[in-house]
Amino acid sequence: MTLETLNAALKNSAGRKLALVGIPDDANSTFLRGAAEAPPKIREQLFSDAFNLWTETGVDLGGDVFFDAGDLNLGETSDTWSAIQGAVEAVLDHGLLPICLGGDHAITYPVVKGFRRRYDALNILHIDAHPDLYDNFGNNPRSHASPFARIMENRLADRLVQVGIRTATGHQREQAKRFGVEMIEMREVTGDLRLAFDSPVYVSVDVDGLDPAYAPGVSHPEPGGLSPRQVIDMIQGLEGRLVGADVVEVNPRRDFHNLTAVAAAKIVKEIAARMLQA
Ligand code: MN
Ligand code: MN
Repeated sequence: MTLETLNAALKNSAGRKLALVGIPDDANSTFLRGAAEAPPKIREQLFSDAFNLWTETGVDLGGDVFFDAGDLNLGETSDTWSAIQGAVEAVLDHGLLPICLGGDHAITYPVVKGFRRRYDALNILHIDAHPDLYDNFGNNPRSHASPFARIMENRLADRLVQVGIRTATGHQREQAKRFGVEMIEMREVTGDLRLAFDSPVYVSVDVDGLDPAYAPGVSHPEPGGLSPRQVIDMIQGLEGRLVGADVVEVNPRRDFHNLTAVAAAKIVKEIAARMLQA
């Protein structure tokens, strides 16, 4: 989909509340490519006949809930970032709330940039093994290891709460302090995680925040992570209005039996249920 075809398709989105936007971009991955192949894999599991479209909380996501925007066509554009931001703004302008399917984590910066133009107050809940706060990584300030440095230095979020972190370096701890990031490291996670926000929340889920036992299909597997249950509990129990989301870093080239795509689809469903309450 291009911005033109997206805008045309959005004219027929009346009655739909949530938009699925595939962002097949892994150009800023540092170690392995493959995350760009994830959007169709996650979509396939979300709408697979193996499952129904009811959430655990009793919300039916079938029928007219989702407007599926398809995958952004980034091959023909020289300015990937503007294309991503433009797509998000187009969706928001039509009164739909986007759920973005990555792609690697670098996409979150332009997505949140689009959100910030619409939301004066915006908080981010970021689930990840990694803080992604490097000032730059491998001489690339657009690296998937850096999106939250860009977000915070451009003041795109009022609060950034990170959960599941287990790879913080000295530099990233300094960055977290500098930006006032609330980092909940994995070693501190015990029992229920009840998070409360008094203004709109965007949730960014890097599936490597999950333990690789549950989500093996990632480029940087980091043992000792969250269970899908913990992530779902966090989403269901979150106090606040959930207005947007991304699920990133599924790498189908590393996946087994689509386990990671299934976990991502499950998380998308429970996020969608919360967004319908926004
Ligand atoms: Mn990440
Ligand atoms: Mn990560």
